[in-house]
Amino acid sequence: MLVINPIYLLLIIPVFLGWFAQWRVRQSYQKYMKVSNKKGIKGSEVAKALFSHHKLNIPILLTKRPMLNYYNPQGKTLHLSEKIAEHDSITSISIVAHEVEHALQDKQGCKYMVMRNRMAKSLAIMGQFSPLIFMWGIFFRNAIFIYLGIILLFGMAIFALISLPVELNASKRALQTLKKLEIADKEEIKMVATVLRDASLTYFVGAGQRIATFLFIVMILFMAHQI
Ligand SMILES: [Zn+2]
Repeated sequence: MLVINPIYLLLIIPVFLGWFAQWRVRQSYQKYMKVSNKKGIKGSEVAKALFSHHKLNIPILLTKRPMLNYYNPQGKTLHLSEKIAEHDSITSISIVAHEVEHALQDKQGCKYMVMRNRMAKSLAIMGQFSPLIFMWGIFFRNAIFIYLGIILLFGMAIFALISLPVELNASKRALQTLKKLEIADKEEIKMVATVLRDASLTYFVGAGQRIATFLFIVMILFMAHQI
C-alpha cells in the first residue's frame, strides 16, 4: 500500500484550499457582477467620490486586463480593469472601495502597510523564485542557496501575514465609507460585505500556503539531518 508521509499534507492541503478560495471568490464576483447598485454609480465614479471624500488626488489608470485591480503604493496610482471601472455592479463598488482604502492607508502611513511596502521592494523578484533557489541549493548541494531559499521563503510567509491586517482593514473601511457616503444602502452593504469577505478568504489561504511551504522545507531539512 502506498503510504504518504504526513508532512506532504503541508503541500497538498493548501493547494486544495487555494482552489476552493479561488472558486469561491470567482462565484461571488460573478454573482454580484449581475447586481447593479440602486444608484447606478459606476466603479470609476465610486473611486472619484471616495478620493474626494478622503481628500486624495490619485490618478486612475484603466487596463483591459479583466480583474486586475490594485493600488500601487510606489507610483501612487489606482489601477482598475475597464470591466470594473465601467460597471455599476455590487462587485465593482466593492472592489473599487477596497482599493481606494489602500490609498488612504498609504497616505496615513498605516504601519502594516509601510512594513508591507518595504518588504515588497526587497522580495519583489527574488521572493517569487525562493522555492527554485532552495531546490537549486539542494540539487547542487550549495549551502548558500539552501539558506537563501529558506530566508526568502520565511520572508514570503511574513509578507503574507503582514498583508492580512492591511487587507482586512481596507475592507472594513470600504464598508464604512460606502455606508457613510450613502453609495450603498443597508441591503447593498450586506452584499458588499459578502464580496469582501469571500475575497478575504484568498488572503488567509495565501498566508496559510506560504507558512505551510516554509514549514515543509524546514521539516524536510530537519529529517535529512536525522538520517
Ligand atoms: Zn487589497
